[in-house]
Amino acid sequence: MATKKRTSRRTKYIFVVGGVLSSVGKGIACASLGLLLKSRGYQVTIQKFDPYINVDPGTMNPLQHGEVYVTDDGAETDLDLGHYERYLNTSMTRFNNATTGQIYYEVIQRERRGHYLGKTVQVIPHITDEIKRRMTYFDGEYDIVIIEIGGTVGDIESQPYLEAARQLTLERGRSSCMTILLAYVPYIRSAGELKTKPTQHAAKELMEFGIIPEIILCRTEHRIPKEVRSKIALFCNVDEEAVIELPDVETIYEVPLVMARRNLDAIVLRKLRLKPNELELDTWSRFVQRIKNPRTSIEIALVGKYVSYHDSYKSIIEAFVHAGAINNCKVELRWISAEEVTKENVEELLQGVRGVLVAPGFGARGIEGKITAIEYVRTRGIPFFGICLGMQCAVIEFARNVCGLSDANSSEFKRTRQNVIHLMPDQEKIEDKGGTMRLGVYPCLLREGTKAHRAYNQDLVFERHRHRYELNNSFRPILEDHGMIMSGVSPDNRLVEIIELDGHPWFVGVQFHPELKSRAVIGHPLFIHFVRAALRMKPDEDSSNEVDNSAL
Ligand code: GLN
Repeated sequence: MATKKRTSRRTKYIFVVGGVLSSVGKGIACASLGLLLKSRGYQVTIQKFDPYINVDPGTMNPLQHGEVYVTDDGAETDLDLGHYERYLNTSMTRFNNATTGQIYYEVIQRERRGHYLGKTVQVIPHITDEIKRRMTYFDGEYDIVIIEIGGTVGDIESQPYLEAARQLTLERGRSSCMTILLAYVPYIRSAGELKTKPTQHAAKELMEFGIIPEIILCRTEHRIPKEVRSKIALFCNVDEEAVIELPDVETIYEVPLVMARRNLDAIVLRKLRLKPNELELDTWSRFVQRIKNPRTSIEIALVGKYVSYHDSYKSIIEAFVHAGAINNCKVELRWISAEEVTKENVEELLQGVRGVLVAPGFGARGIEGKITAIEYVRTRGIPFFGICLGMQCAVIEFARNVCGLSDANSSEFKRTRQNVIHLMPDQEKIEDKGGTMRLGVYPCLLREGTKAHRAYNQDLVFERHRHRYELNNSFRPILEDHGMIMSGVSPDNRLVEIIELDGHPWFVGVQFHPELKSRAVIGHPLFIHFVRAALRMKPDEDSSNEVDNSAL
């Protein structure tokens, strides 16, 4: 790992661990707390430690692990980093996410280099030291580092992380380190009761590791009465005010407001002996109000391969929440499995939607369905947004149906003489699958007068990539001659980054992932403009938007 300049800040650490069961929103809790502390004037960052052995989630199936979140510096990371960026409005780096795989990899490589001088290499202290080294990577650079430990307290895999947290707390002192337990308080309907036992067990287990949780966040579907909170406080050995209920809310963006109402940030600052500067949440509250009270709602179809697991498209979903709020409307997503789309049913499947987004993805499955959906929206004048594979499919569709290249395809799926999408030359020699795509942020020059330029209102933008294939430059002239506009290219003009169509209300495809840069409150220009175009579409007069194909 690179060394870097330190400032003189005395960094405080907050460990967030989950009790009993996962999926209760640890990532959102960390992001929300981070936002509150940032809004109190502190420099905050968040790290996620994932207890699995994969080096990163890049090679994992999105149906199992959800979306892979790519940072500016090209790391393939856990989707919780997306929440951190969206809430904190700052860019994470590869040092904000670590996995057990990375940690062992590093230690084993060091062992091979003879670094340990003949010692037996063990979980304690070698693995835990490497964990601590990573946990303190931002030492001196931030006032507060929130550390989310993946999994739950009882997991074998999480133990080295808890041990590292315990050691760090001992070394730095309790005014510099604290632990928050995120527990779940279930409601048993037949008994009409909220149950605190799982929370008690989680706290007890943490204490067995020598960690004393100072705050317990209780996720719950029902309000937790004072007596129940007192009971948790008593049995778990925490102050009563530090047992904080987090009920289900309408939108995840409301969580910081709920936490602030219950004083979480003030309690944290007091325990860490930091000044309770004033909290400024007006803009955020207005953003939440807009999400909760939209003036209208529209339906947009998301055509993809992994639609059965919505976490696979986490950032896209959130980008629509942001763009919707900015446009004063709620975007309802109609999930369409690409494999199901045929020429016969496409009209019925897309009936009434005001826009179609064709999602990123890998592999041939569902490609023809995506292409069919694209042909439909292109010829009907329905707003279209293609992301990465979605853009590549739009190029294939246009090549086949407008340029007359009937064999057009991507070489990812089929080698033909008309591979309008092909492998970048520097990708051809690569054999390793992990971390070898075109990853991270790249510049893109926008052509004036295009929809893309209008949306960004800038000449040069930076967007994040995660793909191996590109538009084949030898087909650029024929595509352009038939009306496809290369509205964004790399500064050396070697790579096409954005395509669009003239004479269509809004037909834009991007080779990058704009959803990864959509932040709460601010949104992303392309999503904002796509939703705006969808709003302009008259729902019941689809034909009025019909595009004159002959002009293309
Ligand atoms: N499979 C395509 C590629 O590798 C698209 C990837 C994506 O959609 N992220 O280029």
